[in-house]
Amino acid sequence: MAAALEIRNLHVSVDNQPILKGVNLTVKQGEIHALMGPNGSGKSTLAYTLMGHPAYEVTAGQIIFDGIDLLELEPDERSHLGLFLAFQYPVAIPGVTLANFLRQAINAHRRAKNPDDKGIPIPEFRRLLKEKMDLLKIDHSFAGRYLNEGFSGGEKKRAEILQLATLEPKIAVLDETDSGLDIDALRIVAEGVNALIGPDLGVLIITHYQRILNYIQPQFVHIMLDGRIVESGGADLALRLEEHGYDWVREKANES
Ligand code: ADP
Ligand code: MG
Repeated sequence: MAAALEIRNLHVSVDNQPILKGVNLTVKQGEIHALMGPNGSGKSTLAYTLMGHPAYEVTAGQIIFDGIDLLELEPDERSHLGLFLAFQYPVAIPGVTLANFLRQAINAHRRAKNPDDKGIPIPEFRRLLKEKMDLLKIDHSFAGRYLNEGFSGGEKKRAEILQLATLEPKIAVLDETDSGLDIDALRIVAEGVNALIGPDLGVLIITHYQRILNYIQPQFVHIMLDGRIVESGGADLALRLEEHGYDWVREKANES
């Protein structure tokens, strides 16, 4: 059965300030969703809450992943279940190559499933890495680089997408907040997601910018405003935003 990430009536506060005010959203394996909304509407708050960041206090509601209550789990346990969050490891790790880092991440997942696991055999890992780099059209030398050390915005995104490809999560949540101004970084993410799309992967791509949708075709588009999803629809909803901005959404939300 397809795994699902189910967000039910989620209320989240930061510093006792309510930010999310009843978010409902379900993303299933095999589905591509885009979450859009103006700055400050609460998109990243949702992403941090999914990750389990301690500053984000869930005051009501539930997050269920693959039938399991996510809110009871630590961030790494969430990841081991098959939930991927793009900014899990944003910092540079001196002396660790991207390949080594990816192998350690795979091994952590394997050990979470089976404590006796000896780790992925090196030849198998090399095969997997090569297969994924070819799929994503990434130069093989990239895996030998030290993680995030001197990475450009685009290279960080490429590393992130390679991590996504090798970990093979069930659901990936990608918050494109920082790369918003860099069209190359945005394109790398979009092309990577397009290469990985399939029945086993569900994606929630979070973005302020409509233009990412020039490269990705989501089946579902949701608009967040003031901590709630106020509008959901198909890809046509993103086109409407492109043409008319967020004002009509605000007006509509005020009427109801
Ligand atoms: P978006 O990603 O849609 O731009 P955010 O989730 O970043 O929105 O922010 C929503 C609101 O929550 C903003 O008013 C922001 O100031 C507040 N907020 C989010 N995270 C924090 C935090 N760590 N500390 C204080 N305020 C925060
Ligand atoms: Mg944000």
